[in-house]
Amino acid sequence: MASHIVGYPRMGPKRELKFALESFWDKKSSAEDLEKVAADLRTSIWKQMAGAGIKYIPSNTFSYYDQVLDTTAMLGAVPPRYGWSGGEIGFDVYFSMARGNASVPAMEMTKWFDTNYHFIVPELGPDVQFSYASHKAVTEYKEAKAVSWVDSVPVLIGPVSYLLLSKPAKGVEKTFSLISLLGKILPVYKEVISELKAAGASWIQFDEPTLVMDLDSHKLQAFTDAYSELESTLSGLNVLIETYFADIPAKAFKTLTSLKGVSAYGFDLVRGTKTLDLIKSEFPKGKYLFAGVVDGRNIWANDLASSLSTLHELEGIVGKDKLVVSTSCSLLHTAVDLVNETKLDKEIKSWLAFAAQKVVEVNALAKALAGEKDEAAALRGSDHRRATNVTARLDAQQKKLDLPILPTTTIGSFPQTIELRRVRREYKANKISEDDYIKAIKEEIQKVVKLQEELDIDVLVHGEPERNDMVEYFGEQLSGFAFTVNGWVQSYGSRCVKPPIIYGDVSRPKPMTVFWSSTAQSMTARPMKGMLTGPVTILNWSFVRNDQPRFETCYQMPWPSRMKVEDLQKAGINVIQIDEAALREGLPLRKSEQAFYLDWAVHSFRITNCGVQDTTQIHTHMCYSNFNDIIHSIIDMDADVITIENSRSDEKLLSVFREGVKYGAGIGPGVYDIHSPRIPSTEEIADRINKMLAVLEKNILWVNPDCGLKTRKYSEVKPALNNMVAAAKLLRTSL
Ligand code: GLN
Ligand code: ZN
Repeated sequence: MASHIVGYPRMGPKRELKFALESFWDKKSSAEDLEKVAADLRTSIWKQMAGAGIKYIPSNTFSYYDQVLDTTAMLGAVPPRYGWSGGEIGFDVYFSMARGNASVPAMEMTKWFDTNYHFIVPELGPDVQFSYASHKAVTEYKEAKAVSWVDSVPVLIGPVSYLLLSKPAKGVEKTFSLISLLGKILPVYKEVISELKAAGASWIQFDEPTLVMDLDSHKLQAFTDAYSELESTLSGLNVLIETYFADIPAKAFKTLTSLKGVSAYGFDLVRGTKTLDLIKSEFPKGKYLFAGVVDGRNIWANDLASSLSTLHELEGIVGKDKLVVSTSCSLLHTAVDLVNETKLDKEIKSWLAFAAQKVVEVNALAKALAGEKDEAAALRGSDHRRATNVTARLDAQQKKLDLPILPTTTIGSFPQTIELRRVRREYKANKISEDDYIKAIKEEIQKVVKLQEELDIDVLVHGEPERNDMVEYFGEQLSGFAFTVNGWVQSYGSRCVKPPIIYGDVSRPKPMTVFWSSTAQSMTARPMKGMLTGPVTILNWSFVRNDQPRFETCYQMPWPSRMKVEDLQKAGINVIQIDEAALREGLPLRKSEQAFYLDWAVHSFRITNCGVQDTTQIHTHMCYSNFNDIIHSIIDMDADVITIENSRSDEKLLSVFREGVKYGAGIGPGVYDIHSPRIPSTEEIADRINKMLAVLEKNILWVNPDCGLKTRKYSEVKPALNNMVAAAKLLRTSL
């Protein structure tokens, strides 16, 4: 069951936008400062909604002042007295309209329907010239995609409501019909729509709240005309018309549900209880119903049981796949986030829901309605696959990374010395300060980076000194995980692992820092691999709750990793490794169950990274040597480069390729065994690589050890890596 949010407050949980605006207006800070605050707010909202599992996430609901004024800017409908001379409208003209300037007063402001929000009233006369003068809607759409990997629903104020909310310019008050401008503004709307389509939008939302007013048939006709005119431009998009604040009159409902090219309607079902009857008796077949059951205009927690019963009823009318749980209107009209209410009485707090909590409510309803199973099915409905194919991606990455042929790298960890373990332990026990801890880890990273540069390795790692264990480290940053002190389980020989316990929903990532990777990147000009543990490995190396199927728990897991991947990309890390060390290990023993496992496991992996840019290179790493039976699933992971444990299995892996399996991505079958203290010679490694070159294209082959170097000593690692690099260089000369 899908979920949707009509719009979101833009002030920020602590009124960050207010302070940034006022400081900018007072000339105490720059336009860039203001833009930065705004961008951060937008990102955090998109991330929050994505993290909560909202499917239809709005964009262009942010505003520096007012969404109606934004529309005026989009249409270039600046009253002449503000001296705008064309071009993209900037802060100067925009804020002059909003607030006036030394010589000209501001435009009129009035209440937005029956709310306490005020909007800037457009002033339109017969001579107004419209032109596409603010690309904000498209910019925000692209931004949501680029920084939050959200394929958002861009929101525009609909053309008819815009005109109906305007006032005639001075001098023509009595005579001028605003609706007569429809034909003049639609060309600009068409330009915006086309640009959104070109940017990849699949949905678009038009807010047409005037539909809840008592409109005469002349005005209703304007809706029919407008959307008929836009129909061909809108084709290929799912079009949602959103109404709110009241019951929609029966005549308007008829007009709305007969609009051309429109596939979805949003209604306020909190203030519009009669609308419910209209829906029951005459909702058109095959269209989406966005049911606004979570109240956007107060701060009370939703009566989930009652909403659920409404939703169940609606489901019976429009069908499961056409019902979308939504808010009654934009959440602009409620408070932002309850978490900052630290002084509020606990009991009272439990009755409340601000915008952030309402987002969670919407999703909880969608989930409850669907039952967990369906949610996972819906997830499977999308493939979450990167848009460009791997060969083209590798080209784009090579342009950026400029690596030699047979590039060398390692799997992530460097030796964990006694000293290093002591530092971590003492930090955990509060025996050393955070500053001292950071200093010690930084020094360790510096050492590892320097060593790799001396060894002349091509793609570096930071060595993972901050990690006790690759699963526990990430589990500690997520909710739904518990950790034991002594729940050790033997892994091999003397080695034990302490699996975390997944007891609840995995979500709400605590801020995951990219600190270590970016610190490491700042120490070298060579590409630094960011290092993450993938969802399937976290699952397979944890004790997993048994009140729901494993695949459902797994599907909750990739979203936090995805945010982390995105953070790394943003921090300028161009190579990111998402370890799926235990993917093969989790393969069910019964053949009949294997395909299903591989399907959700591989899909979960793809979710973690399907939104990155082509130029960001995604590596994955897998341990355990028997891959031949799952090679097609490995390919289906769609990583750019995979490093695989290989050297102990007599290059069994290579036999698949010998048999003709097509593999276009980068691949690094391990060239030596890291489980043994033995130091491989250059000749031996070169010999291995040669065998690989016999079956794999030279331009996809990477040179790396089998696995991480955590359990080895530096006295083993240095000469082994030295020989590895020497072998790669030796072969490069002959290729
Ligand atoms: N990046 C991890 C490491 O090098 C991978 C460990 C593993 O595959 N088990 O330690
Ligand atoms: Zn490994």
